[in-house]
Amino acid sequence: MYLIRLVYYSRVNITFEKGSVTNELRSILSSSKKNNSGASITGALLFNKKYFVQCLEGPREKVTETFCRISQDIRHTDVVIMDCDTINQRMFPNWSMALAEPGEFLKTHALKWSDNAEFDPTRMSAESVVGMLNEMDVDQVATSQGQRKVAQGLR
Ligand code: FAD
Repeated sequence: MYLIRLVYYSRVNITFEKGSVTNELRSILSSSKKNNSGASITGALLFNKKYFVQCLEGPREKVTETFCRISQDIRHTDVVIMDCDTINQRMFPNWSMALAEPGEFLKTHALKWSDNAEFDPTRMSAESVVGMLNEMDVDQVATSQGQRKVAQGLR
């Protein structure tokens, strides 16, 4: 089975009324948990007020199917694929979908991996985005979001 990693960014299209972001993120994570576990997909989702960045890893048929569904979602627009390549091993084997939200650490990491403290994926390479996600202690972030660990060795 061939595994691929697809990385994209998109513009957030969620109204910032009280509670709506939390509700939408909760809904996205709940769909991700439900669908990704069954499709052997793992990955990480980074969110700030402007952009989503998502890394999807898994069997290429499943990643393609999932990405096509996600790209139709009205909660974001202007979806841009940054990279899509065959991989030998997963970067986020333990997470059906880890979530990293804005915070001080995002600023710190954005400064390290780009030329700006404001996280802006349009000015970053896919390698920098993946490196940043990998370094952000996603396990800890995801645990605080109550994300469920999925079984290791999904391949
Ligand atoms: P359900 O999970 O049953 O849908 C749950 C609820 O989500 C619905 O009741 C509805 O309120 C809402 N919803 C569903 N589709 C849409 C839509 N297109 N627009 C607005 N609201 C909607 N899904 C995954 O399976 N895996 C992922 O990794 C993933 N990542 C995402 C990342 C981003 C940035 C976004 C915006 C969405 C992501 N989604 C992901 C959600 C995906 O776009 C679909 O909404 C979801 O896969 C539909 O799943 P489902 O048919 O099982 O519906």
